Amino acid sequence: MAKQADLEIRDLYAGIEGKVILRGINLAVNRGEVHALMGPNGSGKSTLANVLMGYPAYKIEKGEIRFLGQVINDLPADERARMGLFLAFQHPSEVPGVTVSSFLRAAVNAAREEPLSPLQFYRILHRELENLKMDPSFADRYLNEGFSGGEKKRNEILQMSILKPKIAVLDEIDSGLDIDALRIVADGVKRLVGPEMGVLVITHYHRILEYLEPDHVHVLVQGRIVRSGGPELAKQLEKTGYEAFRTESVAAEA
Ligand code: ADP
Ligand code: MG
Repeated sequence: MAKQADLEIRDLYAGIEGKVILRGINLAVNRGEVHALMGPNGSGKSTLANVLMGYPAYKIEKGEIRFLGQVINDLPADERARMGLFLAFQHPSEVPGVTVSSFLRAAVNAAREEPLSPLQFYRILHRELENLKMDPSFADRYLNEGFSGGEKKRNEILQMSILKPKIAVLDEIDSGLDIDALRIVADGVKRLVGPEMGVLVITHYHRILEYLEPDHVHVLVQGRIVRSGGPELAKQLEKTGYEAFRTESVAAEA
């Protein structure tokens, strides 16, 4: 039998509120790999991210999600996170009254048998803040409250760099970023990708992929991956847009 990927999605049908949005997704992502999932608005990218993380509003109709060899279809989100699956949200929510620092400390300690001492945690937090060129005072702000678009995205990367997941799903981590913020975010991701971590970068645009250099590119149209290839596929998309792929999706349906 072929070796199982760290994250393996098999013939996945899933949706929300009785509406089936993902229609037969197959995808395999390993630590050390950078995968890009590209697709037009409404193609189901965020749905896939949310289904992978196990948000209760989403329902799997058919198929399997396997993580580290285990079927996780019915596993709650917090357990998936503990196993090392991470999602950076497209629209992170505000958590008034909870600081970035206390949130991160609780999250990191939830995944450990032995909690980090306050000093250990402080050192890690400040090293990562520095890596991401964030002001130390950021850690004392309330989670996502009044954050600019760029701050929200950097905060997602900060979480990822502290939690050190095995597979990270990054949903439009590049949207709304100016070129400097984009580079910092992309560098933050790149620094973490290696034998211990792989990523699925979900994006609408080609831009971030110039920094992240994916090994595999997948095109999602109307809930189906209609094409997979190497980095050249992202370049082709930049030129042709998604229109040509829509036609393929319709043909596949016939
Ligand atoms: P993408 O992230 O690729 O832009 P989404 O996964 O957000 O796409 O949405 C895919 C489809 O699912 C869209 O047609 C959208 O209208 C629908 N959808 C998303 N969220 C909901 C929801 N909460 N209730 C009903 N339909 C939804
Ligand atoms: Mg989306």
